[in-house]
Amino acid sequence: MLKKDRYEAFVNYFSKHQPQAETELHYTNPFELLIAVILSAQCTDKRINQVTPKLFERFPTVESLAASTSDEVFTYIRSVSYPNNKAKHLVGMAKILLGDFGGIVPEDINDLQKMPGVGRKTANVIASVVFNAPAMAVDTHVFRVSNRLGLTTAAKTPLAVEKQLVKYLPQDKIHIAHHWLILHGRYICLARSPKCELCPISHFCKYDEQQHTPSALKKKENAEIRKQKQKAQKLKKDKIAKELKKRALI
Ligand code: SF4
Repeated sequence: MLKKDRYEAFVNYFSKHQPQAETELHYTNPFELLIAVILSAQCTDKRINQVTPKLFERFPTVESLAASTSDEVFTYIRSVSYPNNKAKHLVGMAKILLGDFGGIVPEDINDLQKMPGVGRKTANVIASVVFNAPAMAVDTHVFRVSNRLGLTTAAKTPLAVEKQLVKYLPQDKIHIAHHWLILHGRYICLARSPKCELCPISHFCKYDEQQHTPSALKKKENAEIRKQKQKAQKLKKDKIAKELKKRALI
Protein backbone atom coordinates (compact mmCIF):
# COMPACT_ATOMS: atom_id res chain seq x y z
CA MET A 1 0.00 0.00 0.00
CA LEU A 2 1.36 3.45 -0.86
CA LYS A 3 1.96 5.97 1.88
CA LYS A 4 -0.50 8.40 0.33
CA ASP A 5 -3.18 5.69 0.38
CA ARG A 6 -2.50 5.01 4.05
CA TYR A 7 -2.95 8.70 4.85
CA GLU A 8 -6.16 8.81 2.88
CA ALA A 9 -7.52 5.69 4.61
CA PHE A 10 -6.48 7.07 8.02
CA VAL A 11 -8.19 10.45 7.52
CA ASN A 12 -11.29 8.88 5.99
CA TYR A 13 -11.72 6.33 8.75
CA PHE A 14 -11.32 8.71 11.68
CA SER A 15 -13.22 11.59 10.06
CA LYS A 16 -16.17 9.23 9.82
CA HIS A 17 -15.83 7.38 13.13
CA GLN A 18 -14.30 9.98 15.47
CA PRO A 19 -15.17 13.40 14.06
CA GLN A 20 -15.21 14.97 17.54
CA ALA A 21 -12.00 13.59 19.08
CA GLU A 22 -10.60 15.81 21.80
CA THR A 23 -8.24 15.89 24.76
CA GLU A 24 -9.19 13.91 27.86
CA LEU A 25 -7.78 16.61 30.15
CA HIS A 26 -10.44 18.66 31.96
CA TYR A 27 -10.27 22.44 31.56
CA THR A 28 -12.53 25.41 31.00
CA ASN A 29 -10.14 27.99 29.52
CA PRO A 30 -6.70 28.19 27.84
CA PHE A 31 -4.94 29.04 31.12
CA GLU A 32 -6.29 25.91 32.79
CA LEU A 33 -5.37 23.79 29.77
CA LEU A 34 -1.82 25.16 29.87
CA ILE A 35 -1.54 24.15 33.53
CA ALA A 36 -3.00 20.70 32.84
CA VAL A 37 -0.70 20.04 29.89
CA ILE A 38 2.41 21.10 31.84
CA LEU A 39 1.35 18.73 34.62
CA SER A 40 0.61 15.87 32.22
CA ALA A 41 4.23 15.34 31.13
CA GLN A 42 5.18 11.76 32.10
CA CYS A 43 1.86 11.36 33.90
CA THR A 44 -1.62 10.11 33.03
CA ASP A 45 -4.52 12.41 32.14
CA LYS A 46 -6.60 10.54 34.71
CA ARG A 47 -4.21 11.50 37.51
CA ILE A 48 -4.06 15.12 36.32
CA ASN A 49 -7.86 15.35 36.27
CA GLN A 50 -7.85 14.24 39.90
CA VAL A 51 -5.66 17.11 41.09
CA THR A 52 -6.70 20.01 38.86
CA PRO A 53 -10.16 20.79 40.33
CA LYS A 54 -8.67 21.92 43.67
CA LEU A 55 -5.70 23.55 41.97
CA PHE A 56 -7.95 25.59 39.64
CA GLU A 57 -10.16 26.53 42.56
CA ARG A 58 -7.20 27.89 44.55
CA PHE A 59 -5.59 29.56 41.50
CA PRO A 60 -8.42 30.74 39.25
CA THR A 61 -6.34 33.47 37.59
CA VAL A 62 -2.84 33.98 36.23
CA GLU A 63 -2.33 36.66 38.92
CA SER A 64 -3.16 34.29 41.78
CA LEU A 65 -0.74 31.64 40.51
CA ALA A 66 2.01 34.18 39.81
CA ALA A 67 1.69 35.51 43.37
CA SER A 68 2.01 32.06 44.91
CA THR A 69 5.07 29.97 45.76
CA SER A 70 6.18 26.62 44.42
CA ASP A 71 5.92 25.26 47.98
CA GLU A 72 2.23 26.05 48.09
CA VAL A 73 1.57 24.75 44.56
CA PHE A 74 3.41 21.55 45.49
CA THR A 75 0.80 20.76 48.15
CA TYR A 76 -1.87 20.58 45.41
CA ILE A 77 0.09 18.45 42.95
CA ARG A 78 2.13 16.14 45.17
CA SER A 79 0.55 13.01 43.64
CA VAL A 80 1.63 13.75 40.05
CA SER A 81 5.05 12.84 38.66
CA TYR A 82 7.93 15.27 39.35
CA PRO A 83 5.83 17.53 41.59
CA ASN A 84 8.78 19.69 42.73
CA ASN A 85 9.83 20.66 39.23
CA LYS A 86 6.28 21.05 38.02
CA ALA A 87 5.37 23.33 40.94
CA LYS A 88 8.31 25.58 40.04
CA HIS A 89 7.33 25.49 36.37
CA LEU A 90 3.74 26.50 37.09
CA VAL A 91 4.68 29.54 39.16
CA GLY A 92 7.39 30.52 36.63
CA MET A 93 4.95 30.04 33.75
CA ALA A 94 2.34 32.30 35.42
CA LYS A 95 4.93 35.02 36.04
CA ILE A 96 6.03 35.09 32.39
CA LEU A 97 2.47 34.77 31.12
CA LEU A 98 1.55 37.80 33.19
CA GLY A 99 4.70 39.85 32.61
CA ASP A 100 5.31 39.18 28.90
CA PHE A 101 1.91 38.31 27.52
CA GLY A 102 -0.52 40.30 29.67
CA GLY A 103 -1.97 37.11 31.14
CA ILE A 104 -3.22 35.87 27.75
CA VAL A 105 -2.04 32.48 26.51
CA PRO A 106 -0.19 33.13 23.24
CA GLU A 107 -0.84 31.17 20.04
CA ASP A 108 2.68 31.22 18.63
CA ILE A 109 4.63 28.09 19.55
CA ASN A 110 7.88 30.04 19.95
CA ASP A 111 6.18 32.39 22.42
CA LEU A 112 4.68 29.47 24.28
CA GLN A 113 8.10 27.86 24.64
CA LYS A 114 9.42 30.92 26.48
CA MET A 115 7.59 29.69 29.56
CA PRO A 116 9.11 27.12 31.92
CA GLY A 117 7.71 23.63 31.56
CA VAL A 118 6.57 24.34 28.01
CA GLY A 119 8.54 22.37 25.43
CA ARG A 120 7.69 21.89 21.78
CA LYS A 121 5.16 19.15 22.49
CA THR A 122 3.23 21.20 25.08
CA ALA A 123 3.34 24.27 22.84
CA ASN A 124 1.92 22.25 19.94
CA VAL A 125 -0.87 20.88 22.14
CA ILE A 126 -1.91 24.40 23.17
CA ALA A 127 -1.67 25.74 19.62
CA SER A 128 -3.74 22.92 18.19
CA VAL A 129 -6.32 22.45 20.97
CA VAL A 130 -6.93 26.10 21.84
CA PHE A 131 -6.35 27.72 18.46
CA ASN A 132 -7.01 24.80 16.06
CA ALA A 133 -3.59 25.58 14.56
CA PRO A 134 -2.09 22.98 12.21
CA ALA A 135 0.41 21.88 14.86
CA MET A 136 1.19 18.26 15.69
CA ALA A 137 2.22 17.42 19.23
CA VAL A 138 4.15 14.16 19.22
CA ASP A 139 3.98 12.17 22.42
CA THR A 140 4.79 8.51 22.91
CA HIS A 141 1.42 7.37 21.46
CA VAL A 142 1.61 9.57 18.37
CA PHE A 143 5.20 8.44 17.81
CA ARG A 144 4.40 4.73 18.09
CA VAL A 145 1.05 4.61 16.28
CA SER A 146 2.06 6.73 13.30
CA ASN A 147 5.14 4.58 12.88
CA ARG A 148 3.22 1.30 13.13
CA LEU A 149 0.55 2.49 10.73
CA GLY A 150 3.21 3.43 8.21
CA LEU A 151 2.34 7.13 8.23
CA THR A 152 5.99 7.85 9.02
CA THR A 153 9.10 6.28 7.58
CA ALA A 154 12.43 5.97 9.39
CA ALA A 155 11.48 8.82 11.72
CA LYS A 156 13.70 8.38 14.76
CA THR A 157 12.81 11.52 16.74
CA PRO A 158 9.55 13.26 17.74
CA LEU A 159 10.53 16.21 15.54
CA ALA A 160 11.00 13.96 12.51
CA VAL A 161 7.58 12.37 13.16
CA GLU A 162 6.00 15.79 13.55
CA LYS A 163 7.47 17.01 10.26
CA GLN A 164 6.30 14.00 8.29
CA LEU A 165 2.77 14.08 9.73
CA VAL A 166 2.44 17.82 9.12
CA LYS A 167 3.70 17.36 5.56
CA TYR A 168 1.31 14.61 4.54
CA LEU A 169 -1.87 15.25 6.54
CA PRO A 170 -4.46 17.64 5.11
CA GLN A 171 -3.89 21.01 6.82
CA ASP A 172 -7.37 21.16 8.35
CA LYS A 173 -7.05 17.68 9.89
CA ILE A 174 -3.71 18.10 11.65
CA HIS A 175 -5.09 19.35 14.96
CA ILE A 176 -7.62 16.53 15.27
CA ALA A 177 -5.29 13.82 13.93
CA HIS A 178 -3.21 14.37 17.06
CA HIS A 179 -6.17 13.16 19.19
CA TRP A 180 -6.96 10.30 16.83
CA LEU A 181 -3.44 8.95 17.18
CA ILE A 182 -3.29 9.45 20.95
CA LEU A 183 -6.65 7.81 21.64
CA HIS A 184 -5.91 4.92 19.31
CA GLY A 185 -2.57 4.40 21.05
CA ARG A 186 -4.08 4.66 24.50
CA TYR A 187 -6.90 2.16 23.99
CA ILE A 188 -6.09 -0.14 21.04
CA CYS A 189 -2.54 0.15 19.73
CA LEU A 190 -0.92 -0.42 23.12
CA ALA A 191 2.86 -0.23 23.38
CA ARG A 192 3.61 -3.79 24.50
CA SER A 193 0.72 -5.73 23.05
CA PRO A 194 -1.28 -3.91 20.40
CA LYS A 195 -4.82 -5.29 20.10
CA CYS A 196 -4.46 -5.93 16.37
CA GLU A 197 -7.18 -8.59 16.35
CA LEU A 198 -9.70 -5.96 17.54
CA CYS A 199 -8.27 -3.04 15.60
CA PRO A 200 -10.69 -1.49 13.10
CA ILE A 201 -7.89 -0.01 11.00
CA SER A 202 -5.68 -3.08 10.61
CA HIS A 203 -6.56 -3.22 6.90
CA PHE A 204 -4.29 -0.26 6.22
CA CYS A 205 -1.72 -0.78 8.99
CA LYS A 206 1.84 -1.47 7.90
CA TYR A 207 2.72 -3.27 11.13
CA ASP A 208 -0.20 -5.66 10.71
CA GLU A 209 0.74 -6.19 7.08
CA GLN A 210 4.27 -7.12 8.14
CA GLN A 211 2.95 -9.66 10.64
CA HIS A 212 1.33 -11.60 7.81
CA THR A 213 4.19 -11.94 5.35
CA PRO A 214 5.35 -15.58 4.81
CA SER A 215 8.60 -14.96 6.73
CA ALA A 216 6.78 -13.30 9.68
CA LEU A 217 4.31 -16.19 9.84
CA LYS A 218 7.18 -18.70 9.75
CA LYS A 219 8.94 -16.80 12.53
CA LYS A 220 5.76 -16.84 14.61
CA GLU A 221 5.36 -20.57 14.03
CA ASN A 222 8.97 -21.24 15.09
CA ALA A 223 8.54 -19.09 18.20
CA GLU A 224 5.42 -21.09 19.12
CA ILE A 225 7.27 -24.40 18.64
CA ARG A 226 10.14 -23.10 20.82
CA LYS A 227 7.67 -22.05 23.49
CA GLN A 228 5.99 -25.47 23.52
CA LYS A 229 9.38 -27.22 23.76
CA GLN A 230 10.45 -25.03 26.68
CA LYS A 231 7.15 -25.73 28.40
CA ALA A 232 7.57 -29.48 27.93
CA GLN A 233 11.16 -29.32 29.24
CA LYS A 234 10.07 -27.41 32.30
CA LEU A 235 7.32 -29.94 33.02
CA LYS A 236 9.84 -32.76 32.71
CA LYS A 237 12.30 -31.02 35.08
CA ASP A 238 9.56 -30.33 37.61
CA LYS A 239 8.50 -33.96 37.49
CA ILE A 240 12.08 -35.19 38.09
CA ALA A 241 12.56 -32.70 40.96
CA LYS A 242 9.33 -33.88 42.52
CA GLU A 243 10.35 -37.51 42.19
CA LEU A 244 13.79 -36.87 43.76
CA LYS A 245 12.19 -35.02 46.66
CA LYS A 246 9.79 -37.87 47.20
CA ARG A 247 12.65 -40.39 47.27
CA ALA A 248 14.67 -38.25 49.70
CA LEU A 249 11.74 -38.31 52.10
CA ILE A 250 11.44 -42.13 52.11
S1 SF4 B 1 -3.36 -3.19 13.53
FE1 SF4 B 1 -2.24 -3.36 15.46
S2 SF4 B 1 -0.35 -2.23 15.15
FE2 SF4 B 1 -1.79 -1.58 13.55
S3 SF4 B 1 -2.79 0.22 14.38
FE3 SF4 B 1 -4.07 -1.53 14.86
S4 SF4 B 1 -3.43 -2.16 16.91
FE4 SF4 B 1 -1.82 -0.83 16.08
